Amino acid sequence: MGVYRSLYIHVPFCAGGKCDYCAFASQGHSSAEERRRYLEKLSQEFQRFAPECQPLRSIFMGGGTPSALSPEELSFLLSEIRRNFTLEADCEWTSEANPDSLTSEKLRAMLSGGVNRLSLGVQSFQKEIRNRIGRRGALENLESIVQEARELGLRRLNLDLIYAVPGETLEQWREDLKRAVALSPDHLSCYSLILEEGTPLAKRLLPEDDDDALFLDCWRHNDEYLAQFGFQRYEISNFAKVGCHCRHNDEIWHGQTYLGCGPAAVSFDGSSRRANPSSLADWLRDVPPEVDELPPQARRREILAFGMRTVAGWNWDDMREVTGFTRDEVLAIPEVQELSRDGLVQWDEEAFRPTAQGLLFNDRILEAIILS
Ligand code: SF4
Repeated sequence: MGVYRSLYIHVPFCAGGKCDYCAFASQGHSSAEERRRYLEKLSQEFQRFAPECQPLRSIFMGGGTPSALSPEELSFLLSEIRRNFTLEADCEWTSEANPDSLTSEKLRAMLSGGVNRLSLGVQSFQKEIRNRIGRRGALENLESIVQEARELGLRRLNLDLIYAVPGETLEQWREDLKRAVALSPDHLSCYSLILEEGTPLAKRLLPEDDDDALFLDCWRHNDEYLAQFGFQRYEISNFAKVGCHCRHNDEIWHGQTYLGCGPAAVSFDGSSRRANPSSLADWLRDVPPEVDELPPQARRREILAFGMRTVAGWNWDDMREVTGFTRDEVLAIPEVQELSRDGLVQWDEEAFRPTAQGLLFNDRILEAIILS
């Protein structure tokens, strides 16, 4: 029986330059030769690790932007995945894409190659906000590409959005959400802007530009507004209609194993984490991955803490199966009792979960459980 239940593939390219807020391992431009070498190496990685995989429950192609690959390159990548791995019959297969670089041909290559869930990077519909954060690309294509995807039979659609940009108003964010909902996605990822050290945006804006009041207003609006359209928050930044959670992420938050292929991709085998070198050049020349080993007790706590990112938290039976902790053991942790007194976690006969406040101040739960 293989170790890994799901597969992540990192595509380290974007088309049209790098966004000013981006700290992901990606390069804004690439040559056909770089992409050829990347795909060749990726195939070798697939061949090497596929025997360690179970039939895959999910595949997630992220980056970077998979739609920075050409239609032929995408077709090759997808066929290599199918050739090397066994997929469960209802395997969830997501690809991220940028509406700007996702042409009709690329969309067709993705959907005919097996992708059944699309995650489009929108961030904001408003030019002013896009300019402020230095988001590359335009959205002219967005509506037609969503319509075409639907006509081709796509059912699962996520849109990525960014809110609480310094200088943004609640009205502007409301407008973004309204326009996102109008495209009838079944899933929305709403991330508050994080100023990542070293990015051009972090040099332009100061931490004191962060507007906590705006963040809180947007956070509350997200729950209230999206509920009217059948979306429920199920993780700090993720909202979905019933039955439309992202399986890939949901399982990762709950301690399941995954294989990561490509530069910067991380794998988790249930006890140790292995991170491929983040630079494309290092990965191409076989620089070994960094392995993060933790004592078993510390890893179990980490897994327990990550599950508390989700609204559902941990069902007691699942928690015992995945982390080995019993209900009594968890409730005996002094830090857990303290989190409960502070109104950040709660439990009943079925589950251990964060409160609404606990989701908002999730770092406190993470820290308390990991360091307990
Ligand atoms: S499209 Fe995404 S990965 Fe690419 S530069 Fe922009 S934020 Fe980074």
